Amino acid sequence: MSVTLDLVRPKTPVAAPVNLSGLTRAQLSSALIDVGVATPAQARMRAGQVWGWVQHHGVTDFTAMSNIARDTRAALADHFVLDRPQIVERQQSADGTIKWLLRFAPGVEAETVFIPEVGGGTGALCVSSQVGCTLNCTFCHTGTQALVRNLTAAEIVAQVQIARDDLGEWHGERGARKLTNVVFMGMGEPLYNLDGVADALDIFSDDQGIAISRRRVTVSTSGVVPKLNELGERTGAMLAISLHAVTDELRDELVPINKAYPIAQLLDAIRAYPGLSNARRVTFEYVMLKGVNDSPAEARALVKLLAGIPAKINLIPFNPWPGSPYACSSGNVIHTFADIVNAAGYASPIRKPRGRDILAACGQLKSQSEKTRASKRRAGSATA
Ligand code: SAH
Ligand code: SF4
Repeated sequence: MSVTLDLVRPKTPVAAPVNLSGLTRAQLSSALIDVGVATPAQARMRAGQVWGWVQHHGVTDFTAMSNIARDTRAALADHFVLDRPQIVERQQSADGTIKWLLRFAPGVEAETVFIPEVGGGTGALCVSSQVGCTLNCTFCHTGTQALVRNLTAAEIVAQVQIARDDLGEWHGERGARKLTNVVFMGMGEPLYNLDGVADALDIFSDDQGIAISRRRVTVSTSGVVPKLNELGERTGAMLAISLHAVTDELRDELVPINKAYPIAQLLDAIRAYPGLSNARRVTFEYVMLKGVNDSPAEARALVKLLAGIPAKINLIPFNPWPGSPYACSSGNVIHTFADIVNAAGYASPIRKPRGRDILAACGQLKSQSEKTRASKRRAGSATA
């Protein structure tokens, strides 16, 4: 049986058509030359026209590019695509949080979450950089899922485009937009997909496109030390570090990449992060795990550890998932911890639980939707 199938299956996978949304300006210029739609002399101007339609107006159809000649549009459509990923599910929470489950290809699904008004008129889109993760942080549900693959730049940009479509913000005044910030805090480790992340950032930060400035983009990493400098040099993004523990012994357990790059090495790399200053602080994320890392002594050790680094400390209430081995610290314990950190002069916002009713919080992404769909399917087949 499998022999017959092998005979009809192409030996080399057929390359997917290139989605124009995932090309940087430079890549777009060369792509237009490669397919004969522009001469080298025309490429910049042509690329600028196409860019405006794709990244400023958000069109998904070549026929909408009204200032481009009909035969050029047809040639573009022969070689490229503009379609968005399929929205498998959209959920909106009572607090305005919106979560989309997107299907990029069969079996390649990830979630994107829009969190309105994170403070001072800003709304953040939490994007995924990978489907699954190779790391196994013990408190993170994504960590229990194998890596399926890195998302491409087009697939990362598409998450922002879907949010813009939904929020109706392609032509909104910049000051009136709800989607102002992007955080790489969805599924996956962004520094294991730095090419995709850096290209996506080049694209959606472009001033004549989606125009979310680099300073409004935060990349969160578990601490891939050898890639930190490159992240700063290539992207100019704000840095967030998933610290979660103040000793190597505990961090080895919670964030196992610590065994390769222990805390002292991580802090050295952070001190050297390009552009780090009081105006551009690094955010340390610290998940509050009951009885594990939440004592006042650990809060004091934390401020000692970070002394001299321009930093914010973000305390994240642990979001439990089915079978998770931890519980969230109580409100009192979190506040005591926050008071110690505040008294040392650090801003230490406690992340507000958002979108909990639709399971849109950190570490809960995707798998819950898979679970729900599986139970819906079961319910469906039971009644069929
Ligand atoms: N891989 C990157 C970015 C994605 S995770 C990283 O680890 O930084 C985004 C943030 O959510 C990280 O700080 C991560 O530690 C945190 N997180 C993961 N699971 C969580 C959970 N169940 N509850 C609270 N925070 C969680
Ligand atoms: Fe991967 Fe980040 Fe989850 Fe760790 S916390 S398993 S690095 S997604």
